[in-house]
Amino acid sequence: MDLEEQSLVHVVPDNNRSTEPHVLQRSADISDEAVATLQLTYGKGDPLNRRRFLRYGAGAAAIAGSALAGYEFGRWQTSLVPPSVSTVTETQTLHQTTTEIAKLASVHGRLFFDFNGNGVQNTGEPVVAGALVQLKDNVGKVIAEALTDSSGDYKLEDVKAGRYRLRIEAESKFRYMCTSGSQFRPVSGDYDLALNEPTKLDLGLMEGFLTLPFGKGTNFKQSIFVDLDPSSRVRDWKGGNFSYDGHRGIDYDMPQLQKIVATAPGIIVEAEDGWPNNPRVNYTNLGLMEDGNRIIIDHENGTRSIYAHLHGGLKVDPRPLTLLYTASDNLQKVERGQFIALSGNTGTRTMGPHLHFQVNRYSTYGEWGSPLDPYRDSYYGTHGYSPYSNNISLWTKDNDPQYATPG
Ligand SMILES: [Zn+2]
Repeated sequence: MDLEEQSLVHVVPDNNRSTEPHVLQRSADISDEAVATLQLTYGKGDPLNRRRFLRYGAGAAAIAGSALAGYEFGRWQTSLVPPSVSTVTETQTLHQTTTEIAKLASVHGRLFFDFNGNGVQNTGEPVVAGALVQLKDNVGKVIAEALTDSSGDYKLEDVKAGRYRLRIEAESKFRYMCTSGSQFRPVSGDYDLALNEPTKLDLGLMEGFLTLPFGKGTNFKQSIFVDLDPSSRVRDWKGGNFSYDGHRGIDYDMPQLQKIVATAPGIIVEAEDGWPNNPRVNYTNLGLMEDGNRIIIDHENGTRSIYAHLHGGLKVDPRPLTLLYTASDNLQKVERGQFIALSGNTGTRTMGPHLHFQVNRYSTYGEWGSPLDPYRDSYYGTHGYSPYSNNISLWTKDNDPQYATPG
C-alpha cells in the first residue's frame, strides 16, 4: 500500500459558511518502524469549528483508516483549543498491524448538480466538491467516509462486502438526489446499497424535484399562476396578479397535440380519458368534468402532480382516481419526462387550448390535499402567510425561471 498517495485529504465544513478547503495532511513520513504521524490542521478555531474539527478529524481517520488497510490508529493526542486560536493542530500515531481483511468491496463515483433530474451528468452540469459520502452499517455506525474531491469524485475502498446505507451530506440547497429519471429521493435519507464488488455509483443532486410538464422546444406561454391569496384578492408568487381568484395551478397556453410529460417519477393514481374537446358546446352536465381528461401522478414524497384539459387518448392506462393504494395494487409507474398525453382543450373550465398543471400535498391517509405552488414564494415571506406557498422552489434548476431572475 502506498501511504504517500493517501497523505492529502481535503476537509470542508458542512455548514456552508466557508467554501475554503481545509487540508488534512500527514506531517511525517512513515518510518522504518512503520510508525507515522498524522497532523490535522483546521482553521477558524471557534468552539463550533472545534466540534467540526473533531468530527472531521474522526472522519478523516476513517478515510485514512480505510485507505491504509493494514494499519490502525493509536489514540488521538488532542489539546484544548481556546476560541480565539485560529489554527488547531492534532497529531496521531499509526501502528502497523497484521490485520487481514478477507473479502473487500468498494464504491466510487461522482456527485454533480443535476439540472434536469436525469441522473446523468450532462454538459454544463457542475460537479459537487466537498460533499461528505458515508457508508454506514445496519445500526448506523459509519464504516467509511470520504469527501468528494475537486472533480466531484469519491471512493470508499476496502470495506467488507455486505449491505450498507449510503449517506450524503452536501450543501443544504440540495434536497433531492437521483441515479436516473425513474427515481429520486431526499438527500437527507439513507440509501440502501449492497456492495459485493467494486461498484460505481454516480449521484445527481437536485434542489427541487419537478421538471416542466413538456419537452424543450414546446410552443407555450405561461399565462396564469397559482393564486396564493386565500381571500377574494389575487396574488401570484411574484406578488403580482397573474392569476385569478381561486386558481390552484399554473396554466400553460399551448396549441393542442403538444407532448405532455411526467414532471417527476411516480405512480399514476388517476387517468381520466374519453372526454371530447370543447365540452361547453357538447355537454350540459358540467358538474363532474371541469378538468376534462386528467392525469394525476403520486410522487411518493407527499405531493401529487395534476395535468388537466388533456386531449383524449392518453398514453397511460386509464384508471379511476385511487388515492389509497399499496405496492400490491401494481399501479402504473412513469419516469421523469415520460410522454403521458397530448395537450388538448377538454373540460368545462377550459377557455381555449391549454394545460392546467397543479401540485397538491396529500397525507398518508389518502386525502386529496391542498394545492402547493411549485414556485418559491417571493411575496408572502415578507407580507404574511399563504397556505399554498413555498419558501423553496419545487423546480429543478433547468426548469426554474427564478434562476433567470437577475441577482
Ligand atoms: Zn388552470
